[in-house]
Amino acid sequence: MRDIGHFIGGKAVAGTSGRHADVFEPMTGEVQARVALASKAELRAAVENAKAAQPAWAATNPQRRARVLMRFLDLVQREYDSLAELLAREHGKTIPDAKGDIQRGLEVVEFACGIPHLMKGEYTEGAGPGIDIYSMRQPLGVVAGITPFNFPAMIPMWKFGPAIACGNAFILKPSERDPGVPMRLAELMIEAGLPAGILNVVNGDKEAVDAILDDPDIKAVGFVGSSPIAQYIYHRAAGTGKRAQCFGGAKNHMIIMPDADMDQAVDALIGAGYGSAGERCMAISVAVPVGKATADKLVEKLIPRVESLKVGPSTDPSADFGPVVTQAALDRIKGYVDLGIKEGAKLVVDGRNFKLQGYENGFYMGGCLFDEVAPEMRIYKEEIFGPVLSVVRAKDYAEALRLPTEHEYGNGVAIFTRDGDAARDFAAKVDVGMVGINVPIPVPIAYYTFGGWKASGFGDLNQHGPDSIRFYTKTKTVTSRWPSGVKEGAEFVIPTMQ
Ligand code: NAD
Repeated sequence: MRDIGHFIGGKAVAGTSGRHADVFEPMTGEVQARVALASKAELRAAVENAKAAQPAWAATNPQRRARVLMRFLDLVQREYDSLAELLAREHGKTIPDAKGDIQRGLEVVEFACGIPHLMKGEYTEGAGPGIDIYSMRQPLGVVAGITPFNFPAMIPMWKFGPAIACGNAFILKPSERDPGVPMRLAELMIEAGLPAGILNVVNGDKEAVDAILDDPDIKAVGFVGSSPIAQYIYHRAAGTGKRAQCFGGAKNHMIIMPDADMDQAVDALIGAGYGSAGERCMAISVAVPVGKATADKLVEKLIPRVESLKVGPSTDPSADFGPVVTQAALDRIKGYVDLGIKEGAKLVVDGRNFKLQGYENGFYMGGCLFDEVAPEMRIYKEEIFGPVLSVVRAKDYAEALRLPTEHEYGNGVAIFTRDGDAARDFAAKVDVGMVGINVPIPVPIAYYTFGGWKASGFGDLNQHGPDSIRFYTKTKTVTSRWPSGVKEGAEFVIPTMQ
């Protein structure tokens, strides 16, 4: 069995707290590793190490910092297959999907390679007599990222790529459920030429997180995970004066208009609802067909597709999705299916009793499909985070627009239609952060920003894209005057540009 410690000062180190968590292999249900859970003192040691290394890294010119990231991109390519397998075995998603997880992270690192350009400031010549104004972006110092289990490659890279490119030192606290890939990524960053201490990985649970939130030398915290923890982290980080961007859970709707291409919509729902066993923050968990005829046709086409989904071990290249992450997650998801039946929703495909021969202890379930789900039900209001799709029938477009707009969460939403006017109106009015038009999972590409609204995101700057550079830097503005001729006396009135 592997023992996973921490990665501090450019090397793997053993944990000293005496506390550990089991890392499962979801496809077999077996414990495959033990991960150390850091104490407050271990976190502090990682911060001190990062703090000592950061000034020299900030003073390294941005082109050289970018070159480290360029080499890292190559090294990850070299190890793509082994990283994807490690990821799939710890998380449960299939290997092709694990490759997508890595790729979406790399794309943000590619974006961060543009740091010499991205960090340029502003300059105004002659803002007043003899006065020039310029601004510069400077790194914050030591910053931290706390990441979820469901994208163990992508989300750490979304955070450490831009942060390190900007000249910060980064403390990563990955999910304790699948820490293997983040640890390997840190090793590859060192191999790429990153100085020791600029990327430290501290494994742990609430104790390590609270130590991050209370540490006076950590200047910013980026979090991704469930909404209650996102809100907790936002609150506590603000209490110690840190910048915080905290992204939470989701309940993503897909509206199917009567004029939509029904086969295209069904394909989209199957992939976006059940891919990665529904354990994606941008998964579609609510289908909203508009009008009875659309709803009847949609459900009729969905049922055989959900029934024929192929659930398999993570290493089976022909599987549509693999197991969920833990037994606790499986119990929670099945509990929501039981609840939906009690609440009066119609379970038209029941995947609760699915068993995979040869993998009886794995955390598997089949796809579930609910029809006639109502907005008052808990299975509509709460995030299930599993392979369960709910159909909520809307009588018209106005009701379909209202459902995601009034929902507590506001991460992603999609509309399927051939009507440009409806699509345009929907994109303008819906109260959700990321919108897809005939695109079921509208995760913006790396040079745009990613962020949900309402209970899906706390803080004002999004992840990746230009916002990530703003989040990981502070702006200093310099007003300079080099007077010529007669020098003026003291000025007591606030200077203006009148
Ligand atoms: P989680 O909230 O359980 O854990 C996220 C991180 O917080 C982990 O590193 C964990 O160790 C830490 N943590 C857990 N409990 C804590 C506590 N009580 N105090 C302090 N820290 C704690 O989330 P998860 O189950 O790992 O991930 C799934 C969730 O993440 C889903 O809700 C999903 O929608 C969300 N998610 C959101 C986005 C997004 O961009 N909005 C992206 C991916 C996942």
